[in-house]
Amino acid sequence: MKKWLGILIMITAIVFMLSNLSSNNGNANELVEQIIPKEPSFEYGILTDSFSVTKGVVKNGQTLGEILYANHIGHPEIHEIVKKSKEIFDVRRVNAGKSYMVMCSKDSIGKAQIFIYEENAISYVVFDLRDGIDVYKGKKEVVVKLKTAASTINSSLWLTMEDKNLSPRLTHELSTIYAWTIDFFKIQKGDAFKVYYEDRYINEEYIGIGRILASEFIHKGQKFYSFYYKENTTYGEYYDDKGKTLRKAFLMAPVDYKRISSRFSRKRKHPVTGRWKGHFGTDYAAERGTPIWSTANGTVVSASYTKNNGNYVKIRHNGTYTTQYLHMSKIKPGIRKGASVKQGDVIGYVGSTGLATGPHVCYRFWKNGKQVDPFKESLPPGDPIKKENYEDFMMVKDSLFNILMAKK
Ligand SMILES: [Zn+2]
Repeated sequence: MKKWLGILIMITAIVFMLSNLSSNNGNANELVEQIIPKEPSFEYGILTDSFSVTKGVVKNGQTLGEILYANHIGHPEIHEIVKKSKEIFDVRRVNAGKSYMVMCSKDSIGKAQIFIYEENAISYVVFDLRDGIDVYKGKKEVVVKLKTAASTINSSLWLTMEDKNLSPRLTHELSTIYAWTIDFFKIQKGDAFKVYYEDRYINEEYIGIGRILASEFIHKGQKFYSFYYKENTTYGEYYDDKGKTLRKAFLMAPVDYKRISSRFSRKRKHPVTGRWKGHFGTDYAAERGTPIWSTANGTVVSASYTKNNGNYVKIRHNGTYTTQYLHMSKIKPGIRKGASVKQGDVIGYVGSTGLATGPHVCYRFWKNGKQVDPFKESLPPGDPIKKENYEDFMMVKDSLFNILMAKK
């Protein structure tokens, strides 16, 4: 019985489909007689209908002149174009692999009327040759779509992004946002993230991620948040859930000191050896036994003793900055190579071990492997949200937070 019922349903369906098909045909015939106005087509804001349009990619070693010459622009005119465009775009910067478009006249000559060079996915240069030479820059309309993504990290952050089909730029952006709070070399299995960010499109074509608006990063069971907020009209910054900026500066000093006994200098007479030598640190005089703090989050790269340094600790903060603390009376137990420390953690105690005249901390600061004076470095400021913006920030933060929490 069931079998017959099935066949019956099938036949009915076929009959219905056929009858539909024929009525569609009837409609189509009627439509042919109507005149459908053609939509005008624009590219780079220029009506292209009246031109014959060629698109291409700049070949290795190809110059703007060669492309124009191939499109019937003579050498004197090319020379003029190069000269006139100098202020807006240096034509020597035309690079292989970049896209261009030539709009030529539809007559028998097909001379180039407008030439467009794409500097990148968004910006382009227009050489309008129709009435003299007009060169200007334009930007394509970028459509931003907001997206959320979330994942637990099983191996590396990179592989997780790849598995989830997410842009590797997200890893880069996140590691920048959290540069002062999370050591991305220490990301481990079980860490997790949620991120709310912009995906950018031009003419429905994906061109890459834009800004990260909010994120939650769980590292070693601890939650780190970032919320993008603009305190002024020019630029925004990332703040945590309490309104503290994520661009953490170093502490001004590694110790509650009495005085700075010696500053960083390229040349000074050493108080012990009497020899002239650079002093690549800042000396903070303090009572013996005073706690010494790590000036920023980081990982201990050495906690040891040498004849000159005495007991010392060296901490790597990120790919750029490393600090070192010398002449400790004692290194704090537990502070050893590989230990992670937070800004303000006690790492040792003031003393005068090694080459030192009295109890002090010699604080050394490396930037990209070079010793520098931290007081002369433009270190990122650590200002929190301004009082007058706090309420507004909290509102923005709450809505971003809800979006993150809704993502499973
Ligand atoms: Zn010193």
